[in-house]
Amino acid sequence: MPSEHDTPEPVADTGLGRAQPHARVRVLLPLPLPTAYDYAVPEGMALSPGDFVSVPFGRRDLIGVVWDETGAGDRAAPDSRLKSVLSRLDVPPLPRQSRQFVEWVADYTLAPRGAVLKMSMSVPAALEPPSVATAYARPTALPPDIRLTPSRTKVLDVLAAAPSLPRSELAREAGVGPAVIDGMVKAGGLVPVQIPDVMKPAAPDLSLAGPVLSAEQGGAASDLRQKVIAARFTATLLDGVPGSGKTEVYFEAVAEALSHGGNVLVLLPEIALSAQWLARFETRFGVAPVVWHSDLGQARRRAVWRAVAEGRAPVVVGARSALFLPHHDLGLIVVDEEHDASFKQEEGVVYNARDMAVVRAHIGEIPVVLATATPSLETVVNVETGKYSRLHLPERHAGATMPTVQAIDMRSDPPPRGSWLSEPLRKAIEETLTAGEQGMLYLNRRGYAPLTLCRKCGHRLQCPRCTAWLVEHRATARLQCHHCGYNVRLPERCPSCEAEDSLTACGPGVERLAEEVASLFPAARTVLAASDTMTGPRAAAELVTMIENHETDLIIGTQIVAKGYHFPKLTLVGVIDADLGLAGGDLRAAERTYQMLYQVSGRAGRGEHPGRVLLQTYMPEHPVMKALVAEDRDGLLAAERKAREAAGMPPFGRLVALIVSGSDEVSVDEAARELGRKAPRGAGISVLGPAPAQMAILRGRHRRRLLLKADRTVPVQAVVSEWLLRADVQRNIRVQVDVDPYSFF
Ligand code: ADP
Ligand code: ZN
Repeated sequence: MPSEHDTPEPVADTGLGRAQPHARVRVLLPLPLPTAYDYAVPEGMALSPGDFVSVPFGRRDLIGVVWDETGAGDRAAPDSRLKSVLSRLDVPPLPRQSRQFVEWVADYTLAPRGAVLKMSMSVPAALEPPSVATAYARPTALPPDIRLTPSRTKVLDVLAAAPSLPRSELAREAGVGPAVIDGMVKAGGLVPVQIPDVMKPAAPDLSLAGPVLSAEQGGAASDLRQKVIAARFTATLLDGVPGSGKTEVYFEAVAEALSHGGNVLVLLPEIALSAQWLARFETRFGVAPVVWHSDLGQARRRAVWRAVAEGRAPVVVGARSALFLPHHDLGLIVVDEEHDASFKQEEGVVYNARDMAVVRAHIGEIPVVLATATPSLETVVNVETGKYSRLHLPERHAGATMPTVQAIDMRSDPPPRGSWLSEPLRKAIEETLTAGEQGMLYLNRRGYAPLTLCRKCGHRLQCPRCTAWLVEHRATARLQCHHCGYNVRLPERCPSCEAEDSLTACGPGVERLAEEVASLFPAARTVLAASDTMTGPRAAAELVTMIENHETDLIIGTQIVAKGYHFPKLTLVGVIDADLGLAGGDLRAAERTYQMLYQVSGRAGRGEHPGRVLLQTYMPEHPVMKALVAEDRDGLLAAERKAREAAGMPPFGRLVALIVSGSDEVSVDEAARELGRKAPRGAGISVLGPAPAQMAILRGRHRRRLLLKADRTVPVQAVVSEWLLRADVQRNIRVQVDVDPYSFF
């Protein structure tokens, strides 16, 4: 194989003296590098853009992708210095649309291309040939003497649905530790089987009919079907109250795309927990879709990536990163709950998956559907300007009415000291329980209490690595930082003044609320649902079944149960602290609080019985509370729109945040000041900061923020990249760029 060592003469410069001049290719590597590198193609190797290749890089061999011959100015090493491609991998090439998408996302977010590529090849094992894996199955007969603990029964239950699964996956799906699997293997309760490590997603059954749609649903469905058939880029807001049948409607579009041989991508927030969505998909199409999210085991990720790369996955449903799978022949993209903030990825490549889904659809020249009951202002404005179209489903299916919403003024109806349920809410809970119906109490705070302080000296227990209070989790008797995961045993003495028994919990978390509920309603069957009590898809599915079967009366939960679920017997929703999201100077605080509370409210009264929602608030006159009570979403949006337009805020102006961080405070400050000095000036541009971030220390790193605000006409990407080039920032300082920021902490 030719390499720089066996080609001593730089002959190819002239093109003479060599029968076969080196062919070159550009190879983009999955590293935080902005450009592709040139490599020589060994004789006899045919390469095309998209091919996965192994190349030497520094002292390592890396896998990269043969990149397109676009753009100039990449490192053009003379042929003599050129290293050669080592091999071409036996994997389908990264499709052209995926490569264009990588470039587009990189250009927009100002992330290095290689870093975006890395998201497209996030499963290195998928690039290797499939191996044979060991999986475990039920034996034909269980040994008679085997002890069937609840954990073991769960494992066997999982295997009733899937004939065999690898160890880690089996443990995960059953919600048990891997040791349980090992124990069962030893006891003869599981038998190992060898399976080729490939996934064969079943074809959706298109002969199954969906429900008979109402006139409005039918109209919306046929509009979407037409758009799928037209196979051009269109973006459609599917705007309908919870329970109006949005999912059924976009399932029709999914069916249409599949019937033309197109593949479909559905993005859902918190996919890991959407057991109900998956069940409905299965009812509609007879098979399970291919699921993709970060909690999948390595083997499953590998299998999914490979199935998608080989064009064998008709429907992929996933979290935001599913956008970066090597999709083939996409015919439709759906973004459900388009307003959801979890579509924004805040680490690494900072991007908004909702927006990037629209870009991906544009590149693929296909329709994208954005479904929600509470559209974001960005999307609403895109509808107004004609960029997106809108389909409206104003009513709940089968005449179910929207719940009545009432604000409880906590200033006139304060709960007794040390408790969190006001008299009107207590009464409503009692009525609900007496009627044999279900209630949900919503408080978006995990743990027992958000703050612990010393009664003697006033010391507040703080995370040593973050600007944040430690949150007490009484169930585990620990204090936890919700930002970095730091946790310690609850101390017996104040760490500052050493007083004994002086530490007091301040404010409520769901655990504390559950305590109050238990003492007020001892007969009620309650369940706590937060991300730390409901770990993984199986626990979520169990909870849902339990609620559906009415094995529980009161659900006390965080936002984890607020979204998407359909519980017919749930008639009361009590919001413990409706004001929680309004504190702080977040640009979208009002919009988001409305969306969140509206979503929670939407859980009430989805069956035959009407629902009601009680909002405990200290500011019932706040526009958000008024809009919730009066069911005036559009009024609130119009007011928001006006305020943002007047202030030149998104979507009427553009924002780019720079977050400067590092472990040494002095150099972080120096870097932030340097960026401040070199800040761009010009018409329609202003820069705020540097200022300490609200979270001035996060995971031990000091943080400073700068915010560029610009008119819509300003090419912010160019402005910011020039800014970063101008500023002389030490290498140990990280400057994270956040285009269209959603969080400002
Ligand atoms: P959304 O997505 O707008 O919240 P869904 O599609 O989840 O609404 O519909 C709510 C419930 O009503 C689901 O159980 C769904 O199956 C049912 N449903 C909606 N439309 C129909 C219909 N036309 N016929 C029968 N059931 C329907
Ligand atoms: Zn911390």
